[in-house]
Amino acid sequence: MSTLDPSKHVARKRFGQNFLQDRMVIDRIVADLHLQAQDVVLEIGPGLGALTLPLLAEHKRLDVVEIDRDLAAYWRHYAANDGVKRGQTLTVHEIDALRFHFPDFAARSPERKIRVVGNLPYNISSPLLFNLQANIQLIQDQHFMLQKEVVDRMVAKPGSSDFSRLSVMLQATYAMQCLQLVAPTAFEPAPKVWSAIVRMVPLAQPQVSAALWPTFASIVAQAFSQRRKMLRGVLKVFAPQLELSGIDGTLRAEDVSVAQYAVLAQHVLAMPDAAA
Ligand code: SAM
Repeated sequence: MSTLDPSKHVARKRFGQNFLQDRMVIDRIVADLHLQAQDVVLEIGPGLGALTLPLLAEHKRLDVVEIDRDLAAYWRHYAANDGVKRGQTLTVHEIDALRFHFPDFAARSPERKIRVVGNLPYNISSPLLFNLQANIQLIQDQHFMLQKEVVDRMVAKPGSSDFSRLSVMLQATYAMQCLQLVAPTAFEPAPKVWSAIVRMVPLAQPQVSAALWPTFASIVAQAFSQRRKMLRGVLKVFAPQLELSGIDGTLRAEDVSVAQYAVLAQHVLAMPDAAA
């Protein structure tokens, strides 16, 4: 294909293309990364380069994953021309990020974990977060732009109405922090909702072991399936385990901490005919 003129690219809704324009927001995202010379940085969805170009300017070495074939071709052309002139190494992976094989990518630099960055298309954010969580041993950290409402849920504490299944599942293995809120006007075209930047750092000691994970995931899904109801009703079959875990059955799913869900899952797993 002929080289894309970025100024003529028409944003594709199906790929969630809202391009970041606000220089202050971009500079702060890059500054918050505190990039180190040896970092292995992977950007999901470079788009027209709002983050890609500053990342390359600062770091010189970057891998990008882009599904849009015109944009991928544009970045390949950039890598072979402007990138070379500037002493940058840009590697383009033209693929759906949900099909990207993180272990193969990580195997290329086994001595370093991956730093994943991206202004994520909102339609793939949850499955991508769970894909990354399944590969968490390969990850140094993740910095993502997401819908503010999703970030609110990711960082919510028990007792808050934002505390949800997503909060529990991600907080079991990540420390998370909202770094900045981003107004719709920071993008072109402007989305309908506010966005936020979240930092996700894998916990040195996950709250839930791999062996416990399926039981934990199942209990949490059941608890939040009827979040307005008391746990003693929603998790009726686990009444003895609730008691053994010291969890008050009159609480609702959103009032129970990640650590308490982990203890409950241990008691459920220890049941003679573990049913979760
Ligand atoms: N990083 C750019 C910025 O901040 O302006 C673009 C962000 S835009 C919200 C999302 C980017 O992800 C677009 O480049 C889009 O083509 C790409 N994208 C959408 N779905 C994708 C997928 N499944 N896999 C990889 N890239 C995807």
